[in-house]
Amino acid sequence: MPRETAQAKAARLKKILGALDRTYPKAHCELDHRSPLELLVATILSAQCTDKRVNIVTRDLFKKYRSAADYANAPLAELEQAIRTTGFFRNKAKNIQACCRKLVERHNGQVPRTMEELTRLDGVGRKTANVVLGNAFGINVGVVVDTHVARLSHRLGLTQQTTPEKIEQELIALVPQAQWTLFSHWLIWHGRRRCDARKPDCEHCEIKKLCPQIGVIKTDTHG
Ligand code: SF4
Repeated sequence: MPRETAQAKAARLKKILGALDRTYPKAHCELDHRSPLELLVATILSAQCTDKRVNIVTRDLFKKYRSAADYANAPLAELEQAIRTTGFFRNKAKNIQACCRKLVERHNGQVPRTMEELTRLDGVGRKTANVVLGNAFGINVGVVVDTHVARLSHRLGLTQQTTPEKIEQELIALVPQAQWTLFSHWLIWHGRRRCDARKPDCEHCEIKKLCPQIGVIKTDTHG
C-alpha cells in the first residue's frame, strides 16, 4: 500500500465508519445479559470460547446465580460444573468467584463503573472492562480489541501494531470517542460475517473499495 497521509487515513476511516454503520445498523454485544453483573460474568466466560456457547451456558447459570453473593458463596466445584463447556473452566470459576467476593466486599455487590476499579477485579483485564463499561454503562473509556478487531484493523491498514494494548491506543487516536463501543461491534460483526480469518469474502465486502487488504492472501475461490 502506498504511504497514506494522516489526513487521507482519517477521511478513509470516516467513510469506513459510515459504511459499517449502514451495513450493521443493529450491531450490538452478542453476549446475552440483563445486568452489568451478567455481562461481566459472560465476558469472563467468553475467553477462548464462542459467544454462542457462552449464551447456552449462561441461560441456566443466570437463573441459578442472581447476585455477586450467589457466586461468592457457591461451592467452587458446583460453579466449575455449571460453566464446564466454556473451556478453561477451573480458572474461570476461580476468577468469577474471587471477582464476585471483591464485588461484595468492596462494592456492595455492584459492578463498579471505572476502568481502575474494574481491572482490580480477578479475571478482568482492560478488554473485559471495556466491554462492561461500553455495553452495560454506555461509557467509552477505550476500544475493545479482540481477535476480530485486531485482524480487521490490520487488514484495513489502520494500524501496524500487534499487541492489543498498542492497537487500542492507535484506534483511540483515530476513531471518535462517541463511536468507540460501536466501532468494536462493527468490526466484530464484519469479522464474523464477511472478513473471516482464513477466507475473507473480499469480493462481496461492503467496504472493499476502502480496504487495502493488508496481508490478505488472494485465492481464486471463496468457500
Ligand atoms: S475487503 Fe477483504 S480484507 Fe478488507 S474488510 Fe473486506 S473482507 Fe476484510
